[in-house]
Formats: sequence, C-alpha cells, structure tokens
Amino acid sequence: PLEPLTARAEAVVDLAAIRHNVATLRARAGTAQLMTVVKADGYGHGMVPVARAAREAGADWIGAAVLEEALALRAAGDTGPIFCWLTTPGEPLEQAIAAGIDLSASAPWEISEIAAGVADRPARVHLKIDTGMSRGGAVPEEWPTLVRAAQAEEKAGRIEIVGIWSHLASSDEPKSPVNEAQLATFQSALDVAASLGVEPPLRHLANSGGTLALPETHFDLVRPGIATYGLSPFGDALPSSELGLVPAMTLRAKLAMVKRVPAGAGVSYGLTWTAPTPSTLGLIPLGYGDGLPRHASSSAPVQVGGVRRTVVGRICMDQCVVNLEDDAAAAGDTAVLFGSGVNGEPTADDWAEAAQTINYEIVTRLGARVPRRYV
Ligand code: PLP
Repeated sequence: PLEPLTARAEAVVDLAAIRHNVATLRARAGTAQLMTVVKADGYGHGMVPVARAAREAGADWIGAAVLEEALALRAAGDTGPIFCWLTTPGEPLEQAIAAGIDLSASAPWEISEIAAGVADRPARVHLKIDTGMSRGGAVPEEWPTLVRAAQAEEKAGRIEIVGIWSHLASSDEPKSPVNEAQLATFQSALDVAASLGVEPPLRHLANSGGTLALPETHFDLVRPGIATYGLSPFGDALPSSELGLVPAMTLRAKLAMVKRVPAGAGVSYGLTWTAPTPSTLGLIPLGYGDGLPRHASSSAPVQVGGVRRTVVGRICMDQCVVNLEDDAAAAGDTAVLFGSGVNGEPTADDWAEAAQTINYEIVTRLGARVPRRYV
C-alpha cells in the first residue's frame, strides 16, 4: 500500500516493479543480450532512475532514441553500453562518439557524418535495415552501398561496424505474416552483408512484442521498451498480468473539492454531461496540461474510496470532474487514476481504451508538471 498522498498529485514509480520486469525480460531473452529502452523520459517514468534500475536488474544495454537522451544518460553517470538510433544532419555526433555512444546509420551520408565526427577513437556503428516498415533504414537496393561505405570507413579506422539492425512493425500481433516477412528480409540483409565480408556481433530486431512472443527474432540482442514498464504490447489479447509483468506507475491525486449538485447540473466546458440525479462530484486537480488525454472525457475510470468511478464532462487543462454519485467523499481524499490494478484501480490500459489510444501514450505523455516519486 502507498503512503497517504501529500502532494496535489503524483506519479509513483515502483522501481522494484521495473527491476522485476527487467529480470523477467532478461530471462525471456535467453542467450541474447538485453537492451532496456528508456527513450521519452523512460516512457514517462523518468529516464535516469529507470536506466539505473534496469542496469541493476541485468540490462546489458540502454537504448535511447535521440542524442540528448543518450548524452543525458552519460552526464548522469551511466558508463555502460548505450545505443542511440535517431540523429539528424548536423547534430553534434562528435560528442556522442567521444562519449562512447553507439550510433545508427541508414545511408552512406550518415556513415560520412559519423566518420567526420571521429577524434581519438573509432565510432561504433549499427547499420539500419528497412525490413518493411519504411521509417529509417536502407532498402534492399541500398544494402551493398551502405555496407561498402561502412567498410571503407572501417578500413580507414574511423568506424567499427558492430551491429546490423531493424525494427518490427507488427509484433503486437505475433501471428501477423508481417513478422515473418520482416524476419526473412532481415536475414537477406545479413546474408548480403556477410557476402561482402561484414558479420558484426550484434544483430537485433526485437522490441517488446518480439522479445515476449517471437523468439526467432531475438538474434544477439533484444530491445524491449514498454514491457519494462510492466505494460503489455499486445493490448487486451494478452494483458501484462499474464506475461508476468507488473505495471510500475501509479497516478493519483487529491480531490481538490467535493460538492453536491442538483439533477440537471451541467458539468465542465460545453456542459457536455448533465447530472441525471442529485450527484456528488469530485474535482481532480489534473487535466490535459498534465498529459491526461482529453479524448477520454466522460469515460475515463478513476478509483475513489476503493470504488471505480467515471470522469464526467470534458477534461480541462488543469482539472477534471469525477462522478461520485452518492459517496460520502471529502476534499483531500485520494483519487487513483491508474495503477497496477492489483487493488482494483484502473490501469493505463483502461485509460488507453477510454481515449482510444495505446497504453504507451498514456504513460509517456504524462506531463512534467506531475512530480514523480520513486519507491
Ligand atoms: N527499438 C526501437 C528502435 C524503438 O523505436 C522502440 C520503441 O518504439 C523500441 C525498440 C521498443 O519498443 P516497445 O516499446 O514496443 O518494446
């Protein structure tokens, strides 16, 4: 049980749950190395504390999307392997290389940019293959030129080709034929590289869905993100509890006010909800300015006094209203918006359903205004 809430609102992040999830993923990875993905502030949970917990629980690698994240991890004292895969022309790659951060390259010009940033040690590079998702990565006709460009810089001592990698588009549906097609394309790219004499030690493809459901995608390294935080990549089809994962974040707030309104009272902007009977309403001091999805207006679940209630009317920037019906709640009582679900509280999946989005977005968009507390 959590301590009584003193702040207006807080996101409690259970680092023991993160460690448990990382250890679970470590076991699922088998002989592959484990990269814990902590981009976007650790999916809203806090990048540095999550990275620390992940290292403690056996993560070999930390994965960051953008350079600022990777450099912030180094600045926070993380000295282990870090992979950063999304850079743009003109970014200070020399800082990343000097900091020993592994980089990704999809095209010969990216290899040249990386090579130009090298000072006293070669840059470690993972070649990105487009296996069908059409985001980054080299398409099949570009594979030989990418590999040869990297080889030339390797011979010149400026880079070291340490990996070949890609990303799964549909691993949230493990039975989708897309997975098999991507796997086959990835294998072809590895074969082309091998035929040119390039066989780097780190072949990687799997995100959480691949790590948990597609062992044939594991290769040498897996890169789970969402499962680290105890959330399922599979939606309703396979909830986190069935995967042995524990949701790490609880979002809760103190009711700022409780009031009784007569039947017919309209609630929040546009008065889109009207009390059908005399009702008790609670004011939750959180809104879309804190990252609550406005789309979840008049449907999001909230637990107050152990009972599941519903947000009524539009979610505002700083506040929203919960229908407490005839409850004897009082200002200062705690409302749990989402948590692990073990105490009957709603989950990030419930909020995702109410907002017609995915659990990733619910936790990741939680705003900086909500203090994180680590337990
Ligand atoms: N690898 C890459 C390149 C990613 O962009 C992401 C996030 O989308 C991940 C791994 C982790 O994905 P997931 O959170 O679905 O496990």
